[in-house]
Amino acid sequence: MDPPEALGAIERDVVACRRCPELRAYCARIATEKRRAYTEWTYWAKPVPAFGDPNARVLLVGLAPGAHGSNRTGRMFTGDASGEWLYRALARSGFANQPQATDRNDGLVLHDALITAAARCAPPHNKPTPQQLRRCAPFLDAEVHTLTRLRVVVGLGAIGTRAAYDALTRCGFNFAERPSFAHLAETVACEDSGEHRCIVLLASYHPSRQNTNTGKLTEPMLDAVFARVRNILAVQGGGAEERRLVSQRSRNRKRGGRT
Ligand code: SF4
Repeated sequence: MDPPEALGAIERDVVACRRCPELRAYCARIATEKRRAYTEWTYWAKPVPAFGDPNARVLLVGLAPGAHGSNRTGRMFTGDASGEWLYRALARSGFANQPQATDRNDGLVLHDALITAAARCAPPHNKPTPQQLRRCAPFLDAEVHTLTRLRVVVGLGAIGTRAAYDALTRCGFNFAERPSFAHLAETVACEDSGEHRCIVLLASYHPSRQNTNTGKLTEPMLDAVFARVRNILAVQGGGAEERRLVSQRSRNRKRGGRT
C-alpha cells in the first residue's frame, strides 16, 4: 500500500473508532449543545483524522481536537485560535498554501507536513486521560509507519511531544534517553534495523490560547520551530543533520553537559 492509500485506510479506521464511548458521547453532546457562534453549523462530532501531505517529511503531533474547533469542522486545528496561530506559522514557513483554516473546504493544502494528534476525539477540559491516550496510540504508530520519508516530528505541547516520543519508540526508533520537555528542545532517534533512518523530535509549546494570550508562546518563537525544521530538512546527504545531532549529544554526555 502506498502512503496515500495507507493513510486513507487509517483515516477510515479513525473516523469509525468507538474505543472510548465516553468521548464519543461527549463529542455528540457538544454537537447538540453547540456554542452560540456556531448554531448554524452541523458539527463533525466524530474522531478527527490526520490532515496533510501523505508523503510528508514532517509530522506535527498535537494534543486533541477542540470541542468547538476540530470537533466542529472535522479537520485538525481548524476553526479555533490554536489553528489560527499554527497555520499562520505553517504558511509563513512554506508548509501551508494559506494561513486561513476555517472549514474542510477552505482550500488549505499542506506541503511536506502532516498534522495529527495524541487523541482524536475532543476530551472534556482538553484533557484526555492516560487510558484514552493509550487507546488512541495505535493510530499514531500506524501514521509513523506509513510516513516512509519522515525526518522531523514536531511535538506540540508536553503531551503531544510525549506521545510522539512513545510512538517513535514503539516503531523501532531508539532514543539515547528520554528528553525533558522545553520549547525548541530536540533529540534524535535512529532505527536499529531496516533502513537505519534517523528522525529528529523537536518540541514546541502548544499554540493554545492559554500560551499565546499569556505570551508564553509568541509568533517569533513558533516561527523559530519551523525555521529549525527547515534547517534540518535542508541539510543535504540524507540524515547528515541527524548524525551531527547524535555525535553532538554523545560529546555532551561525555562532558556531563545537557543534551
Ligand atoms: S480518542 Fe481515539 S481511541 Fe478513543 S474513541 Fe476517539 S479515536 Fe477512538
